[in-house]
Amino acid sequence: MMSKRKPLVGGNWKMNLDNAKATALAKAIVGQSPKTDGVDVILYPSFPHLVSTNKVLSPSNIKLGAQDFCGRPNGAYTGAVSLSMLSDVGACAVLAGHSERRHVFGETDEQTNAKVRWALEAGFYVTLCVGETHEQRQQHQTDAINAAQIHYGLAGVEAEQMPRLSIAYEPVWAIGTGKTATAEDAQTAHFTIRTAVAARFNNDIAAETRIQYGGSVKPDNARQLFAQPDVDGGLIGGASLVAEDFLAIVEAAAG
Ligand code: PEP
Repeated sequence: MMSKRKPLVGGNWKMNLDNAKATALAKAIVGQSPKTDGVDVILYPSFPHLVSTNKVLSPSNIKLGAQDFCGRPNGAYTGAVSLSMLSDVGACAVLAGHSERRHVFGETDEQTNAKVRWALEAGFYVTLCVGETHEQRQQHQTDAINAAQIHYGLAGVEAEQMPRLSIAYEPVWAIGTGKTATAEDAQTAHFTIRTAVAARFNNDIAAETRIQYGGSVKPDNARQLFAQPDVDGGLIGGASLVAEDFLAIVEAAAG
């Protein structure tokens, strides 16, 4: 069954680039914006590059997102960046539960869930990232881990907030490693995730929720991954740093 979900492609720049390079990359992407027709595109620069990237993106349809945030109201939280600060500089989307936040910075399912709820309450578009490690896959726990991360990640989320949420399936072993899930493995995991969303809400919400694939997506593997019925675009790390590659991936998502 072909899906009616509009594909969504995110470019997660991670802790890369300087201000001049971030601006140049955003300009190169916006300059080719007809290629982004039919696809929702969100770019996630680092905090210091949000203001300059927003200046480039604002006349276009491409949205500005932040890679992380603190859900607490402004106050004595040294080093943290609040959602109100993000919206003040033009960001309307955030990531939550990215594997680097979970596995490098030790964020738990509980913290991820708090971030999902805080950002939704603040009116942001949220991408909840889930995915199993290599060991978990070896131990045949892939489905159980993804279903559990959906269960915990969506706790307390209201049905009417779900149109502002996407899920990114990002197998940890495929992120930044050059290893990509086969299209078949990706489809199996996406179907499990959609089933978990249906169990949490209902079939209609599950059918409308976009599930992006992330993990070493490149121009030469994007089309096959995005052709899977439950794959609704991607969350792109490394390849999003090269305008030409990112645009080729966006075009692949457009179909
Ligand atoms: C990511 O950062 O979400 C990601 C999938 O990275 P990469 O494309 O580099 O594997």
